[in-house]
Amino acid sequence: MSLNNLTITGIEMLWFEHTLENVGVDYNTFNMVFEAGARKTSREGILRIHTSEGITGDHVGLRGPTAEQIKMLTGYLIGKNPLEREKIYQDSKRGLRHFDMTGTGPVDIALWDIAGKLFNAPLYRMLGGTHKALPAYASTLHGDENGGLGTPQQFADFAQQCKEMGYKAFKIHGWGNGPISREIANVLGVREAVGPEIALMIDPACEYENFAETLAVGRACDEAGFFWFEDPYKDGGVSQFAHRKLRGMIKTPILQTEHIRLLEQHVDFIVADATDFVRAGAHEDGGITGTMKIAAATEGFGLDVELHGPGPVHRHIMSAIRNTNWYELGLIHPMVRTTKSPVYLNYSDDLDAIDSDGNVYAPEGPGIGVEIDWDWVRAHQVDRATWGVVPDPRPTYVVPPVASTPAVSDETSEVSVDIVEDEV
Ligand SMILES: [Mg+2]
Repeated sequence: MSLNNLTITGIEMLWFEHTLENVGVDYNTFNMVFEAGARKTSREGILRIHTSEGITGDHVGLRGPTAEQIKMLTGYLIGKNPLEREKIYQDSKRGLRHFDMTGTGPVDIALWDIAGKLFNAPLYRMLGGTHKALPAYASTLHGDENGGLGTPQQFADFAQQCKEMGYKAFKIHGWGNGPISREIANVLGVREAVGPEIALMIDPACEYENFAETLAVGRACDEAGFFWFEDPYKDGGVSQFAHRKLRGMIKTPILQTEHIRLLEQHVDFIVADATDFVRAGAHEDGGITGTMKIAAATEGFGLDVELHGPGPVHRHIMSAIRNTNWYELGLIHPMVRTTKSPVYLNYSDDLDAIDSDGNVYAPEGPGIGVEIDWDWVRAHQVDRATWGVVPDPRPTYVVPPVASTPAVSDETSEVSVDIVEDEV
């Protein structure tokens, strides 16, 4: 086989549903929270990119709006060489310029999976990384009103539990609709519970009402020696001026840029002096290619990049960059067994996924390196769409006929979008 002749022959999206136990939603339905006895069903997708050599790249975790963007790219992708990730990143970005460009991420990740499988190497090796311990922080579910993480004392108890398990860092996702005094009590109470040696962060995920509330919690973070203060208030996490102003009034480092997209916007935030820690995520910021660009740009400014959310792809990236600190393990809760679908075999980002020192490691298999439980996926599959030539999936349900030409042939029914954010 010549690497020059490798081509993308088909694209597939599989959708499955899974149900979480003891998980509900908060007052405005946007945040997952603990709720005893509740069952929350979510829809999730897998992007599969098939090639002329029979190697398939997979991305798990597809969502509706991003999938719609990827559908716009299928006609472009079929016939391209899947190893030409840089060109595909650049072209896809332009093709999606009127949208948020998140469609570039899953495509790039699937292409990296193809490359890793082709060269029989885990992605962190492809990236020049090192097999090393990745220190994890316990990233909580949001505060609830249901007796789970319902009070500062319950957060403090959970932080203590995580410390005893080996975690060296703990991040609070607090409440969105309560008095700001409860947020401040939470910041001070968790610090008092775990002592000075645990790194603490708080992520209001843009729920605080205004700058005054933000400043009040920021000053509590100063008092409690927090590691970072993330996306605090309802500017949406996008205002460079507001966060430059905030930085001048508190001591705690700010983490911004989770809610902006791709390299250029991240660099603009940095040069505007509007963040201390830089946020990037492979699923939103152009895949592994896009995230490595942001990591390198951040390194050039002498700053650190912190990856948004867990998953095997982020373990690979974190194994391959110097200027980073913590792996986000979440969302976790003392009374919720998991907030993830059981889509992977022998892989977990649940509460007990760390070793006794609070670390996780990148997978060692080729490509993304984690085996998908296809029997489970097919048993829970609810929808499928294909473009180009796609192998017989041996489905467990009746598939509508699909075209076998490279032309776009969207056979999917409307995918309902689950708007509950896995906001981490
Ligand atoms: Mg966040």
